[in-house]
Amino acid sequence: MAKTRVKTPLVELDGDEMTRIIWAWIKEKLILPHLDVELKYFDLGIQTRDATEDRVTVEAAHAIREYGVGVKCATITPDAERVAEYGLKKAWPSPNGQIRSILDGTVFRKPILVSNIRPAVRSWKKPIVVGRHAYGDLYRGVELAVDRPGRVEMVYRPEAGGEERRLVVHEFKGPGIVMGIHNLDGSIRSFARSCIALALSEKIDLWFSTKDTISKVYQGRFKEIFAAETAARREEFARAGIGYRYLLIDDAAAQALKHEGGFLWALSNYDGDVFSDVVAAGFGSLGMMTSVLVSPEGKFEFEAAHGTVRRHYYEHRKGNPTSTNSVASIFAWSGALRKRGELDGTPEVVAFADRLERAVLGCIEEGIVTRDLVPLMEPQPAGWQTTEGFIEAVAARLA
Ligand code: NAP
Ligand code: MG
Repeated sequence: MAKTRVKTPLVELDGDEMTRIIWAWIKEKLILPHLDVELKYFDLGIQTRDATEDRVTVEAAHAIREYGVGVKCATITPDAERVAEYGLKKAWPSPNGQIRSILDGTVFRKPILVSNIRPAVRSWKKPIVVGRHAYGDLYRGVELAVDRPGRVEMVYRPEAGGEERRLVVHEFKGPGIVMGIHNLDGSIRSFARSCIALALSEKIDLWFSTKDTISKVYQGRFKEIFAAETAARREEFARAGIGYRYLLIDDAAAQALKHEGGFLWALSNYDGDVFSDVVAAGFGSLGMMTSVLVSPEGKFEFEAAHGTVRRHYYEHRKGNPTSTNSVASIFAWSGALRKRGELDGTPEVVAFADRLERAVLGCIEEGIVTRDLVPLMEPQPAGWQTTEGFIEAVAARLA
């Protein structure tokens, strides 16, 4: 059979441990037999990051900016333990954090739904995609414990001179605590633009929620920026047949539980921290959660939401069989290829991405699954596949 040609190179970022093993199998058995694709390969495995003083991560991020679409394997974010384990020069920063800041992007998480795995929330029929703003608020707060009576003030001193502005935070009569948090218009705007780029790309409604009734200036600014950015793109929203809704955070949380899904929920940093985990737990397994990094200009990097599945890798290295779920990693490839096909105007590449996903879902619907999915399924299958066995089953179905 003739291979389908992918017009523009795809940026590929390899990774670590069990996901690196899975990565090579996916490429060998599911991608390269069917596609004629030029892969701009960057090895983000921890040894190569260490050997290149992490230049490889920066180069990979720039390649995604240049070509527009990347696909990434999970990678180790080293801590002291990993520095010792791999004999690293230092604890290099998180590759995802680095790439995100070079692309000024936002990470969205999207669950993969299958008919025989029912979400914990009965009304959810379509994915809820969660986008979390990743700058400021609580996560860059300054905090102070007050131990005796006194006044705490907020002071703004313009750099160019001019009048100082002061607000009394509180007149303390006894011990207490205070916090100062901030955010940046530019960061909020980039976040809004990334959310709009993904909503348009996926053709799903965009929700944004904060508590602007209480925090009229701070959270109110988020609401204003989202309103201005979505208004500027009103025609594109109409053409895509999607809408924008602003809701108060508590209203959004209640409505999300009763909704059938199929929307993008944009959230401020703290709300996103909480609700991304709520939504992930509600849909089921980490092995079935994908993630996409979207820049404000519409550059995309697809990935699985889980890590390198370290425990399974140690078993694999001992020569023991493993049963690691490769679905989210396969969907990272199909997601990237679909996007590449859409941007290139090559429907045959989009069709391949669809076929690959159908092959995966078809296996799961027939009860061919890895061990992590068995307790979630209705009916429960009698057995489970090894890591490689599952990928082989998908390959057979795809062929
Ligand atoms: P992990 O890879 O997310 O795995 C934690 C546990 O969740 C596994 O031990 C396994 O549970 C289950 N699990 C996760 N993915 C699975 C899959 N595909 N199939 C089956 N089970 C799965 O987290 P970790 O092992 O604690 O972290 C390892 C490394 O990943 C860390 O160095 C961290 O820095 C990195 N990390 C990278 C990314 C990324 O690149 N995006 C994200 C998160 C973490 P059982 O052991 O019970 O089977
Ligand atoms: Mg969290």
